[in-house]
Amino acid sequence: MFNALVVTKDEDSGKTSAAVQQIAVDDLPQGEVLVAVEYSTLNYKDGLCIGPGAGLVRKYPHVPGIDFAGTVEESADARYKPGDKVVLTGRRVGEAHWGGYAQKARVLADWLVPLPEGLDSRAAMAVGTAGFTAMLAVMALEDHGLQKDHGPVLVTGAAGGVGSVATAILAHLGHEVAAVTGRPEQEAYLRGLGASQIVPRDELTEVTRKPLESEQWAGCVDAVAGAMLGRVLKQIKYGGSVAAIGLAGGAAIEGALITPFILRSVNLLGIDSVMQPYDNRLRAWQRIARDLPMDKLEAMVQPATLSDLPQLGADILKGQVKGRVVVDVNA
Ligand code: NDP
Repeated sequence: MFNALVVTKDEDSGKTSAAVQQIAVDDLPQGEVLVAVEYSTLNYKDGLCIGPGAGLVRKYPHVPGIDFAGTVEESADARYKPGDKVVLTGRRVGEAHWGGYAQKARVLADWLVPLPEGLDSRAAMAVGTAGFTAMLAVMALEDHGLQKDHGPVLVTGAAGGVGSVATAILAHLGHEVAAVTGRPEQEAYLRGLGASQIVPRDELTEVTRKPLESEQWAGCVDAVAGAMLGRVLKQIKYGGSVAAIGLAGGAAIEGALITPFILRSVNLLGIDSVMQPYDNRLRAWQRIARDLPMDKLEAMVQPATLSDLPQLGADILKGQVKGRVVVDVNA
């Protein structure tokens, strides 16, 4: 028997509740590889799956945790053998399939990636889905021509998980980073990650009908959408791109017009971390091992245990979590 955070649903009231319980290997879903999980993390989606479900969880009881890192214990697939270190993000694990908030997980071999050299399982989860997504966003901006001498790159939702890692990666690669935050008390934290400019959130949340604003940003990693993305698009320099990764500020793009696209050749790039093919996942993890300053990572980490997750899950849905919550499932 081992520990897992199990979410159950009361069929009468429709309410869900989460608690640490003992479960057995036989309770786990089918899969080719059994992993002894060491660390998992808390992401916005995990907050939804611990709490209301929001349509992501189809079947209860459920074990959330959209990412994990650990050691292979048993494998029916020739690519993995016991003792191999592995990392998993996405593939709807923690939503449609039981996830990383347990001391063991059983998954398909295709969903795993070997842990790249230079990362241990705790560092991999300090990065986690948020950091993996941040790296995909940076790679997409580079693929669309972003270069260091193009000017400042904006990161929205900067004190959150994706924003923190995006800030650190971009600064480490030599870009000037402007970090947008609604939490002025996080200025020292963001400057420590490498941001050279702090932009207060409310400077970018007023919806305007202006067709364009003055060109300011070479590119943007946007975790917020809503009114902020509508404004940012109008401030991107000619030919620049916005990598849109999230919707912490709303599911629409408020106040957006066609003008930035046709008058400034701006690109809006959608980033999905969930269904990335294996080769892209491997490439992104290898870049993370190479291009993420590991000394910055510790400043982002808030350690947690399985029993801390019900509260932290509620906090992340209110935008109150800073950086990356790393869950030691064996603590
Ligand atoms: P966090 O909650 O850690 O960060 C989001 C940040 O956005 C907050 O810290 C806050 O930053 C800012 N924010 C929150 N609410 C608002 C608001 N109403 N208006 C403006 N800014 C706001 O979440 P993550 O970084 O883990 O994820 C961010 C988004 O990305 C979520 O929507 C998540 O679902 C999505 N996501 C998408 C992925 C993909 O594959 N595309 C993968 C991972 C996440 P500050 O306090 O600095 O202003």
